[in-house]
Amino acid sequence: MMARGDVEKIEANGKLKIHVANSMLGDNVQVEADLVVLAVGMVPNSADGELIRELHDSRHQAETSESSQVRETSAARAEELLKHEGTEILNLEYRQGPDLPTLKYGFPDSPFICFPYESRRTGVYAAGTVHAPMDAVQAAEDGLGAAMKAVQCIEMAKRGEAVHPRAGDTGYPDFFLQRCTQCKRCTEECPFGTLNEDEKGTPEFFPLRCRRCGICMGACPERIVNFQDYSVLMVAEMIKAFEVPEDYEEKPRIVALMCENDALPALETAAANGATWNPWTRIIPVRCLGSMNIVWLAEALSRGVDGVILIGCKFGDDYQCHYVRGSELANTRLDNVGETLERLALEPERVKLVELSHDEFERIPTILDEFAEELDEMGPNPLKGF
Ligand code: SF4
Ligand code: SF4
Repeated sequence: MMARGDVEKIEANGKLKIHVANSMLGDNVQVEADLVVLAVGMVPNSADGELIRELHDSRHQAETSESSQVRETSAARAEELLKHEGTEILNLEYRQGPDLPTLKYGFPDSPFICFPYESRRTGVYAAGTVHAPMDAVQAAEDGLGAAMKAVQCIEMAKRGEAVHPRAGDTGYPDFFLQRCTQCKRCTEECPFGTLNEDEKGTPEFFPLRCRRCGICMGACPERIVNFQDYSVLMVAEMIKAFEVPEDYEEKPRIVALMCENDALPALETAAANGATWNPWTRIIPVRCLGSMNIVWLAEALSRGVDGVILIGCKFGDDYQCHYVRGSELANTRLDNVGETLERLALEPERVKLVELSHDEFERIPTILDEFAEELDEMGPNPLKGF
């Protein structure tokens, strides 16, 4: 007999009886056996840096919060995370924890499918069985790949250049800290742990860790984080430069913010394959949807643009974002924008986020055409002409 499901327990009572829950037919079944062979798996020798950090934060909150409810929930969370106490291995001095962020089974997370030994800490590589179960030959190959990447990283860092994916970029985010409100959004959202905080919560920038994704720029409500060649103002000016047809012209204007890593190459592939799409669309490439500053949406809609579509990488457990959570962060920011739009008597559906991978280039014309149809049904932006 063959059964597939979750083994709940094995009873040894003369004969062995295996209790299986959630079998393929949905029942709980028992299977009698003479011999049980247990599968073995590799358990990584790594620590979960983010949970260690959360343990310390929860403890701190449990001791210092003024709210008794926060003290209670923080104490409960600290209790849950207690098993991470003293598990530090790398002892990195990062605001986001002393070790690498890990996945479900404890292996370090990597934002790059092609270079899986890359970790979410620039210049730190998890090779061989440290990052995935594999045999000795694979581990040797993996180690070689990681060593080559490390050499490349050192060379590029010496020249002040970013490593993958914006390899060779020599710009850095500039923080105009005189106007910083210490809100900590940039330090919390930076996917590579580039920003630590001083005691007051002011960001401390470590340039060698930076991948130039621009997520800090998108996160900052004060708009004081900018690059020389990529800034909140620059994109706002691009939006301003688009001609917005009057409502009697019956041509909705759509602004599409597209991630340069997957969405834009997908658009180029679609174009190379002869695809055409809605002519009302104007496209602005962005480093990552996470670099989208809410002010761009306000700028576009207040100028009469009928809709803004954001196209970026897939998020969730199997995320494809080169900057880990860029499109997910943009999605969270949009949740907060919905209410503001309603207050302005604008339909929240005028702003839409779509997840797309490079190989889904054939979807692009449909995505843009469907959005144009939705806007057509909604009618022109009531702020047109003001
Ligand atoms: S550009 Fe990206 S990696 Fe660099 S500090 Fe900002 S969020 Fe962090
Ligand atoms: S997001 Fe802006 S205001 Fe907030 S801490 Fe960072 S730099 Fe300061």
